[in-house]
Parts: sequence; structure tokens; C-alpha cells
Amino acid sequence: MPQRPYNFSAGPAAMPDEVLHHAAAEMLDWHGSGMSVMEMSHRGPQFGHILSHAEADLRELLAVPADYHVLFMQGGALAENAIVPLNLSRGAKADYVVTGSWSQKSQLEARKFCDVHLAASTHSASGYGSIPPIELWDPRRDAQYLHYCANETIDGVEFQHAPTRFSLPLVADMSSTLLSRPVEVAAHACIYAGAQKNIGPAGLTLVIVHRDMLGRALPSCPSAFDYAVVAKNSSMYNTPPTFAIYMAGLVFQWIRRQTEGALQGLAAVAERNRQKADLLYACIDASELYTSRVEHACRSRMNVPFFLRDERLNDAFLQGAQQRQLLQLKGHKSVGGMRASIYNAMPLGGVQTLVDYMHEFERSH
Ligand code: PMP
Repeated sequence: MPQRPYNFSAGPAAMPDEVLHHAAAEMLDWHGSGMSVMEMSHRGPQFGHILSHAEADLRELLAVPADYHVLFMQGGALAENAIVPLNLSRGAKADYVVTGSWSQKSQLEARKFCDVHLAASTHSASGYGSIPPIELWDPRRDAQYLHYCANETIDGVEFQHAPTRFSLPLVADMSSTLLSRPVEVAAHACIYAGAQKNIGPAGLTLVIVHRDMLGRALPSCPSAFDYAVVAKNSSMYNTPPTFAIYMAGLVFQWIRRQTEGALQGLAAVAERNRQKADLLYACIDASELYTSRVEHACRSRMNVPFFLRDERLNDAFLQGAQQRQLLQLKGHKSVGGMRASIYNAMPLGGVQTLVDYMHEFERSH
């Protein structure tokens, strides 16, 4: 099969080739069952096996402590913007940190359910591009939780560490960072992520929630979105997104197999992601044509927005990229410019090909 193009989509994003081949090979008959995974009862033994292995692999990859539930849900991260306050705010106070477009959306949605205060916020005429020093945050001591977005997919702003200074339960949208590197699960009360970046196909939402946070949902919380109900039913209160869970399970196994030097699994993936991001930012920083608007200390390793100083060249840049099989580099419509999403499935060679093209384009323009 010819090499596939390099796909820099922000999500749904490229999947590892190996995983797609594996799924293709067992599409019509999973392990001699005579059924595609899509055709199986979610309550049957085969799917039970798939789900329990996926959960076990995820727990191992992220070193999820035993007192956390792993929930396989639906609705994506935008639904979690409502599901989190429905479950955790008690209809009282919840504090949010806004560092980009997605956390801004989160805090606006939460206002439907509770009293929201912005403990910190960054927005300037040129958009988002920084994280305020944590010493300047002012969360309320009686807030039920503090919410932040670990990686702003649109703006390219990433927390390098969990903001753990305060004693409030920490809630994180990790849609575009979960499984790109090890995370401090135990520093959080709740982590959620839509799957369509580093986890698997769209349609699955992962929630990792401490057991002490369960059982405080508002009476108006839909049962299918009540973390306690979902946990009690092992993510089978309603029909879970079975095929997406199966694909995510294959991705977890793929991550476990990764090596980079002496590193293995998620550590190997994280090291490779660092190399990829370093390569791309070095190209941008050394250039007179390309520019990044994000402060160095919080630059995302997953989503690299960049701008051409002469925006009239944007279309030519994208056309040339397309001809070289470098796909989906157009920036989000709200910020413009370019964005290269370099999730786990993007090999170093893909970023090198992009950087070579960027040099070539700069020389010829
Ligand atoms: N939060 C973040 C950080 C995201 O990257 C996205 C999707 N790009 C969302 C929220 C929204 O996710 P969904 O469309 O799956 O609801």
C-alpha cells in the first residue's frame, strides 16, 4: 500500500496505521466470533472482554490509582462542560481558569448550572497565548472545584504541570493532551477527554473521576450523565460507543508497545512528542516568515498554531502543502493562520517533511 499522507488534523485526527490495519483485519470477524465488534451485544462476553482490557490498559498507561473510576461515556468534551457542573458543583460555586477558546466555552456553559467565578483569565486583542502566574490566581476557598483546560487545542496553550497550588478539587479538560505524556492523575478530582485526538474515534468520552466526587449530582442531572450511575453500571447504564471503545483499546495496546531508546509506552510517546514539537518550534523561531503567538513557557506539544507574517501567502502555503501530501494545516476559523496538530500518530518523519516544506516555501517567497 502506498504511504498515506501526513494528516495534521486537530481532531478527529490521524490514527496509527498499525491500529487501522489491525481493525481492518478483524472487521468482519472478531477473534472467530463470526461478528464485527459493531455487531456485538455490549452485554455479551466478547465485548465485556474488550471493555475490561481497554480499561486495564488505560489504567496501566496513566497509572490511575485504584480509588478512581474510569468511565466510558458519550457526548464529547462539550457535553462534559455541562455534565461536570451537573455532577460536581452542587449548584453552588465553581471556579474556572480561562486560557483559551475551550476553557472559555467551559465556563460559559457552567453558568447555566452554578455560580461561576474566573480565578484567572487571559485574553488580549491578539487572542490567547499565555497562562497567568499561578500566584495571581484568586479561586474562592468555598468553590466546589477549580476547572482548567490542560491543552487549548485551538490556541496552542498547554499547561506543563497540573496547577496544584490550591486545596480545591481540580477538574481538567484533557481532550487534546491525555495520552500524549504521563499526567498526575492523583492531583485531579476529575479528568475528561473527548477521544478523537490521541485516544480513538470520535463518539467516546473518557472520564477519570475520584470516587469521593460521586453521588453529588444535581437532581436534574440526566441519569445517563450521572457519574455515580455510570460507575455503578460499569459504563453500561446506556449502550456505550462499543466500536469507539474497541478502537481506543487497540490504541492503548499500540501505546504500550512504543519504545524510544530505553523508554517504553507513554514515556516513549512523550519523548517522541517532545522531539516533534522542538523540531517544529525551532523552524518557526528561526524563520522570518513564520511566527508563533504563544509564550515559550506554555507552548503546546500537540497543537502548534503559527502564522505567516504575510497573510496573503496563506492560500499558496496550503496549496503547496496539499501537493506534498501534508493535509489539514489550516488554522481554526476563529484564529486563522495555520495549525499543525502533531498527536501521537504523527511520526517524526511527518514533522520533518512539514519543516522541509516550510523552509522551501520560505526560500521561494
Ligand atoms: N475541549 C478541547 C480541549 C477540545 O480540543 C475540544 C475539541 N476539539 C473540545 C473541548 C470539544 O470537544 P467535542 O467536540 O468532542 O465536544
